[in-house]
Amino acid sequence: MLSLRRYDIKYIKGIGPGRAGVLGSELGLHTAYDLLHHFPSNYIDRTRIYTVRELSAIPESDYTHIQIRGRFITFNTLGEGAKMRLVGLFTDGTATIEAVWFKGIREVRKRVRAGEEYILFGKPSRFNGSLQMTHPETDSPSAVAAAGSVRAVYPLTERLRQKNIDSRVLHTAITTFLAGLKRPLAETLPPSVISSEGLMRLDEAIRVIHMPSDAEKLSQARRRLKFEELFYIQTDMLRRSRNRKASVAGYPMPRIGQWFNDFYRRCVPFEPTGAQKRVIKEIHADIAHGKQMNRLVQGDVGSGKTLVALMAMLLAIDNGYQACIMAPTEILATQHYETISGMAAKIGLNIKLLTGSTRTKERRIIDEQLRDGTLHILVGTHAVIEDRVEFARLGLVVIDEQHRFGVAQRARLWKKSTLPPHVLVMTATPIPRTLAMTVYGDLDVSVIDELPPGRTPVSTMLRFDKQRAQVMTAAKKQIELGHQVYIVYPLVKENEKLDLRSVEEGFEAATDFFAPFKVALVHGQMKPAEKDAQMELFVTNKAQVLVATTVIEVGVNVPNATTMIIENAERFGLSQLHQLRGRVGRGADRSFCILMSKYEISADTRKRLDIMTDTTDGFVIAEADMQMRGPGDIEGTAQSGLPFDLKIANLALDGAVIQQARKAAERLLDSDPALTAPENRTFAAALAAMLDRTTDWSQIS
Ligand code: ADP
Ligand code: MG
Repeated sequence: MLSLRRYDIKYIKGIGPGRAGVLGSELGLHTAYDLLHHFPSNYIDRTRIYTVRELSAIPESDYTHIQIRGRFITFNTLGEGAKMRLVGLFTDGTATIEAVWFKGIREVRKRVRAGEEYILFGKPSRFNGSLQMTHPETDSPSAVAAAGSVRAVYPLTERLRQKNIDSRVLHTAITTFLAGLKRPLAETLPPSVISSEGLMRLDEAIRVIHMPSDAEKLSQARRRLKFEELFYIQTDMLRRSRNRKASVAGYPMPRIGQWFNDFYRRCVPFEPTGAQKRVIKEIHADIAHGKQMNRLVQGDVGSGKTLVALMAMLLAIDNGYQACIMAPTEILATQHYETISGMAAKIGLNIKLLTGSTRTKERRIIDEQLRDGTLHILVGTHAVIEDRVEFARLGLVVIDEQHRFGVAQRARLWKKSTLPPHVLVMTATPIPRTLAMTVYGDLDVSVIDELPPGRTPVSTMLRFDKQRAQVMTAAKKQIELGHQVYIVYPLVKENEKLDLRSVEEGFEAATDFFAPFKVALVHGQMKPAEKDAQMELFVTNKAQVLVATTVIEVGVNVPNATTMIIENAERFGLSQLHQLRGRVGRGADRSFCILMSKYEISADTRKRLDIMTDTTDGFVIAEADMQMRGPGDIEGTAQSGLPFDLKIANLALDGAVIQQARKAAERLLDSDPALTAPENRTFAAALAAMLDRTTDWSQIS
């Protein structure tokens, strides 16, 4: 297997240097290994022949690659020069279809004759009312039969097609290469896993996935290859987390002391929920014994993560350490700073805020107090992990809304102390369990699965443009009752100008409509100071309406706001909508979330938005979102968190396989923690190769 990773595809028959270059740049295929792992996206049943009449009855949008069998009646060359095309009129006796070629005309004319029987393979379309197939594969029925009953279709790009690299080229190159191998492909999974999981062996799986003989075998091959990818990831994550637990010492923080107790007695105005208490206990148990903690706290919007974070930081302080908490934006950092210093005001903790716009003078004081250890808690943005920020004894780092912080950034924290600080990651974007297992597999997970009592769920409704007047009137009524209103616009990067215009127009319309009440405006292209000033107007209720893009998405806390109007709701992801909705319903009063949408939305979009109106449970929403859109689209769970790209497994749909792979990885590491047993050596090497593919390539090319 390893030598396949060194085997340049330019040496493969049917590829050659020219095609190798394009395959490399277009699909990232460089080696024989890559080529064999470029899996078909689809299969065509080559025993299924459509009739032309049948095609006329299918709507054009449903056309896929199909075959028809018949004869060419005539050929005509039309147009001139670059516009020249060859049109063959083809019939199977039920009706006619035109085959059109723009390139390779001479070659087609030589090879294909009128009157002989062919099978055309391609994707039909309708042009000026008549049926067409451009550049169909044209083969004799005997050649098709010889190629097997199922044919693989490969993911391709437009540029590859222009270079005449189609599925057939890839398929032929792959199958020829496989046929020429002198030995079976070396098995890359440990033998114990193959037998306990009843998996197909690699050699067979690779052959079957490219040349399936039947559906049952194909599904076994797919399962094997999916399992393998997920098993690599689980083994890697589990091994890292076990190693860390076994070998990475952490600061022991056994004591529950004065700060913690004082705060709890004098500053917490409510009874923590059972879930909050449990998670604080889990954190304490984790940091007490001299091992480094890496813990993810998942809790829905409003579940009270801030209290948990603060209490964890107090434990660190009680044991003689400093703590810091990082938020993804300046607004959020500022708000955390205010909340935390407000909550802890009575006990005299030294808490400071550090962001990109902290003045030099203040910055100097912070630096000094960090170094002499008198600063207890530093709140900030990424500015906190800059190299020049030095702590005397950084013991705990809280990262809020983790999806904006990568693993690399987490790693940088280590440099700030002799031992790595404990890390607590807080996320309000709940993700399904099996996904968490993969994306955060190296973290221990706590869940705050209970909301503080007395919350009324936010009433959520879907409204269309023609109901806008009613929506605005209802919003105004809320303001007259003393409340505040958010109006949020989507921001799509591709067209920032247009987005900016819509939010600015929205601002003007709102200013007119809500007068004499005041409207604030916040969007991504404002300077931080300007943004903060506008935000401040809303937070202090000097403005009653906030028109904004999604900069307010996470964490902003204005309990007096009771109405959230989301414009073009169909353009948001569910998790994002859920986050936005979480901005209201934070006080005692009944709150509303209105999803505005244009009238013509697809059934899928409708179904998505209906989930929002049906439930306020973030975990249910995350699960539904993942099922409907696939994990890559879920905010905060970009697959970039994974050590390599998945080729065949799907985090959204392969939950069961993820769990099986996790269990198998646990068993394997129980029996062979360092993966040094002889029977696991090939696997260990394959895993290592998977994990440093990128570095490998930078060295080779
Ligand atoms: P999130 O998990 O979204 O960060 P916050 O920490 O901002 O939630 O808490 C949301 C609100 O709930 C805050 O106003 C906080 O003071 C309040 N809160 C937190 N815990 C409790 C509790 N146990 N009982 C009542 N209110 C609580
Ligand atoms: Mg929060």
